[in-house]
Amino acid sequence: MVPTLKDDPSQAVLASHRLMLRAGLIYQVASGIYGWWPMGLRILQNVAEVIRRYHTDHGVDEFLLPTVQPADLWRKSQRFEAYGPEMLTMQDRHHRDLVYGPTAEEAVTDMMRSFARSYKDLPKVLFNIQWKFRDEIRPRFGVMRGREFLMKDAYSFDVSVDQAKKTYTQMSDLYWKIFHALGLKVLRLRADTGPIGGDLSHEFHVISHVGESQIYYDARLGDAPEQGEFYAATEELHNPQAFQNRNIVSSKSIEVGHLFFFGDKYSQPLDGKVLMPSGDLQPYMMGSYGLGISRIVGAMAELFHDDKGLRWPLDIAPYQVGVVPIHADTCAEIAQGFYHKLQNQGYGCLLDDRDKSAGEKFFDLDLLGIPFQIRLSKRLCAQECAEIYARYEGCTQIVPWDNLIPALESLIETERKRYPFV
Ligand code: ATP
Ligand code: MG
Repeated sequence: MVPTLKDDPSQAVLASHRLMLRAGLIYQVASGIYGWWPMGLRILQNVAEVIRRYHTDHGVDEFLLPTVQPADLWRKSQRFEAYGPEMLTMQDRHHRDLVYGPTAEEAVTDMMRSFARSYKDLPKVLFNIQWKFRDEIRPRFGVMRGREFLMKDAYSFDVSVDQAKKTYTQMSDLYWKIFHALGLKVLRLRADTGPIGGDLSHEFHVISHVGESQIYYDARLGDAPEQGEFYAATEELHNPQAFQNRNIVSSKSIEVGHLFFFGDKYSQPLDGKVLMPSGDLQPYMMGSYGLGISRIVGAMAELFHDDKGLRWPLDIAPYQVGVVPIHADTCAEIAQGFYHKLQNQGYGCLLDDRDKSAGEKFFDLDLLGIPFQIRLSKRLCAQECAEIYARYEGCTQIVPWDNLIPALESLIETERKRYPFV
């Protein structure tokens, strides 16, 4: 475990950023560039894992694109100049221009040329989880707006616009499920396509007063389980005139995902074509689908915390259970026994055998957002009992050792019901 900080770091203005630094999850290596300590990495990986599982179960295979791309691909799509100073460029030893990918439409279009030759090879959707770099003018709020950040980006390839739009809708449905699984209440909004381009685009946002976006939506949307055709738009697309008499509300929000359909914008200039039954070569119709994984961790920290610290959903927490031996001389062995037993049963379990006071351990595990603690003191061990502490309910119960696992399981079940899909 990385030492936690007692005092708030001064550079952080947001609670999420402060708590993530204090809990020893992240470390700022340079402006907008972070290293992730073990606890932070587990959280990041847990979010990535939910996203990965939903894609894979949906028939979307994982692949991996490089972070460094040749600038020539970006010249072909006319984006090398257009992207502007947000793009980090460099040269190799042969003076060839390279780009540290801010996104990967060009690279994937190029890569797909060797896979899809005929209409029979399509449709295809692939996703990858990879670091991106954007030289943001104002990196801030910790991992919420970094310069280097982890993104899940998926790309779809279809032979017709109709098919491609169906794929787009399926990806949008998949995003609903993913955000629900993460315990995030999102709004889906019509959006501007920005430098990615195209003619159809939606963003997913979580409402938060610290968000950097401004969104406009039908007041009825807040309570509706399905968004249907209710008005919902980002600031760029909002048309105040058209909605004067409607009950449109506005809010600050955090953008967590973005879907684009852009047809042959990249496949045409990069020569990504398939042979059609007619014998013609035709560019494939593409979409891209981004999710900000590291930003989601920051957004969750912002949305889910209390005066004791972070409150992660059960399967996002770095560990589900912390075993805390209070008196090392009498309880260490029994604590280790429970730790191994829980590990073997598939729980993410942490043994807090640091040489610290009970109070300090309780405090740190609360700060980190470990949902359950099993506390073992000399007195309880003498009675062959342990105390289970539930972080979110704030309650404790004393149970005999025999009943410890069933009691924990039932608490976990209750907790899991808050996030039904995970
Ligand atoms: P923003 O408007 O917040 O700058 P964007 O519209 O430029 O984001 P996209 O190109 O849509 O971003 O990227 C896909 C997703 O990647 C975003 O929805 C967001 O969740 C995430 N993301 C984008 N920029 C950053 C960043 N600087 N730090 C962390 N996550 C980011
Ligand atoms: Mg966007």
